[in-house]
Amino acid sequence: MKKIIITLTLSITYIFGLNAVVSITPEQEFLQAIGGDRVNISLMVKAGDSPHTYEPKPSQMIALSKADIYFAIGVEFEKAWLPKFKNLNPTMDIIDISQGVVKMTMEKDNHDEEEEEHHDEHEHQGDDPHIWTSIANIKLMATNIYTALSQKEPQNQDYFRANLDKYLLSLEQKDKEIRDILSSIKGDRVFMVFHPSWGYFARDYNLTQLSVEIEGKEPKPKELIHLLKEAKAKGVKAIFTQPEFSDTVSIVIAKELNIPVVKVTPLSAQCSQNLINIAKTIAQSE
Ligand code: ZN
Repeated sequence: MKKIIITLTLSITYIFGLNAVVSITPEQEFLQAIGGDRVNISLMVKAGDSPHTYEPKPSQMIALSKADIYFAIGVEFEKAWLPKFKNLNPTMDIIDISQGVVKMTMEKDNHDEEEEEHHDEHEHQGDDPHIWTSIANIKLMATNIYTALSQKEPQNQDYFRANLDKYLLSLEQKDKEIRDILSSIKGDRVFMVFHPSWGYFARDYNLTQLSVEIEGKEPKPKELIHLLKEAKAKGVKAIFTQPEFSDTVSIVIAKELNIPVVKVTPLSAQCSQNLINIAKTIAQSE
């Protein structure tokens, strides 16, 4: 009897694919690209929710109890919740797709020499979790997903490999396109954001991200004055905000600097295409 049940479960998985769970929307693109029709993807942090403050809903805990594999990416809520997910579903594999990605410290080396004196008041603590805003990082994560899926379903390794090769090629083309778009920037390669989601993007393309939020908090009056001075000196032309956060402070800054507020989310389900969009937005605002 037991054998029949096991065979049945295996063939159900074979027909319907692996039940996979991802933390955030960008992972959907990576997993879909590599897993194709072999994966059914459930998403934890839905559009408009912030991965920094997210908590799972009861219906999602039920989905988790039926999942075969969880793809973690190192966002904040995972630290508290992954052990609970594992308790709920001990047979579920948990794969950290950020393995091998070199994490940046928040707002590190984005400051040039002349700003060094302000460094203390600007210091950010901890690793920057927004690793999916880099094509180079996405390539690594896609490869990690390929490895995990191939281990889970060795019989489909060739299929996953072909998908990976195709996806890596498309990422290289997007990287070229982004470089082309950004090559039109003549002035300072600086852009201003409310929440510092684009640190890896800035690193990859030699841009500077000027963040309103400091260590996840709105700036103190003194910090705000410094920020406005810096934004003016660098000729910042727009402030980018995202739907996951309030625009109140950004609107005040935008008025002060007489620049527009532009909404652009880093949590798009079309993650790599979205990097082309942000490149265009930055280039147009220069
Ligand atoms: Zn964030």
